[in-house]
Amino acid sequence: MAQRVPTADTGAKKTSRVRVAVRLRPYMEKEDDKAEGPCVRGLDSQNLEIINWRNATETVKYHFDAFHDEQTTQQGVFLASVKPILPHILTGQNASVLAYGPTGAGKTHTMLGSREQPGVIPRAVKEVFNLVRTQEEAQDGWGCSLTMSYLEIYNEKVLDLLSPSTQDLPIREDKDRNILIPGLTQTPLASFADFDQHFVPASLNRTTASTKLNQRSSRSHAILLIKVVRTQRAAPHRQKTGKLYLVDLAGSEDNRRTGNQGLRLKESGAINLSLFTLSKVVDSLNGGTGGRVPYRDSKLTRLLQDSLGGSSHSVMITNIAPEYSYYFDTFSALNFAAKSKLIVNKPFVRETLTVPVPQVKRPREEAEGDQLRKK
Ligand code: ADP
Ligand code: MG
Repeated sequence: MAQRVPTADTGAKKTSRVRVAVRLRPYMEKEDDKAEGPCVRGLDSQNLEIINWRNATETVKYHFDAFHDEQTTQQGVFLASVKPILPHILTGQNASVLAYGPTGAGKTHTMLGSREQPGVIPRAVKEVFNLVRTQEEAQDGWGCSLTMSYLEIYNEKVLDLLSPSTQDLPIREDKDRNILIPGLTQTPLASFADFDQHFVPASLNRTTASTKLNQRSSRSHAILLIKVVRTQRAAPHRQKTGKLYLVDLAGSEDNRRTGNQGLRLKESGAINLSLFTLSKVVDSLNGGTGGRVPYRDSKLTRLLQDSLGGSSHSVMITNIAPEYSYYFDTFSALNFAAKSKLIVNKPFVRETLTVPVPQVKRPREEAEGDQLRKK
């Protein structure tokens, strides 16, 4: 029988919630050496289930603001989870999109994507330019300028990816409670081509460095900031600044198998204090604790303080992988992200799975067949 497991209370509160979406990436054979098949599957646009390892006759069902299944395209994720929040940054409000989840589950694919399948970052920047153009055409007496900054938080150090020689930068708060980083490069952007020209080399630098520096990319947070400043053309030249943060977070596996409490969690928190604090901040914003939101406990949350919760618009896309080798990381990512979960007394029936692997599988089977024939 079904048993309710209470998680975050979603009742009324002062600050805005962080919307939580989950994206399941396609099953990849190479990630599953035991050929066990997937252990997670989607149910509908808000729910998924994962097999309960304690009891294989049960599944655990989770509910989210949005669930994107393994067939959801990059455009599908963008339209449902990101595009709706972008108009706010032209009205002087802030927004943030964070990709969360274990290494290998699809954070970079979701945020950056590839030339063939561009992700949230290029799509969002294009859309911001579209929105700005529409505003300018409306000739409402306001001008608009865009800048980009790109930084990384690694070991609680803030590093400027557009000016790699700089050291750990300070995070400050002005009298209006805006968070800023004095000394951070702000590159003016006149067009999307401009953005591409500055962003692509910087992100490639980071990727190459990461393989040399012991998987740095899985331990650091890559943060792109797009700032939109609207200025009244006539006196008194009022200004409205809106910020959009697009963040590819460090791998959440640092917090795995801790049971969510006690000494082990402290240890893993120390491995990535920012990620650990982020989970406390999101919990707190989404009604878990109700008390002080611990923004100041880490660099990442301090930086995002004016763009996460409060009057800002935030979405966290939790990326998960379907293979059993990710089981515990998936479980802990889901427990962090879920609004509620339900243990359902029903075996996980693999036969009913519709996993789009045949196209992927066939070439390898054929290749293996060829090898066998050659022998
Ligand atoms: P992470 O950044 O979380 O470590 P990646 O984005 O690098 O994970 O994804 C791991 C691998 O899975 C990459 O080869 C990526 O191209 C692939 N992948 C991730 N998500 C998807 C998806 N939705 N569709 C197709 N391939 C994906
Ligand atoms: Mg990545």
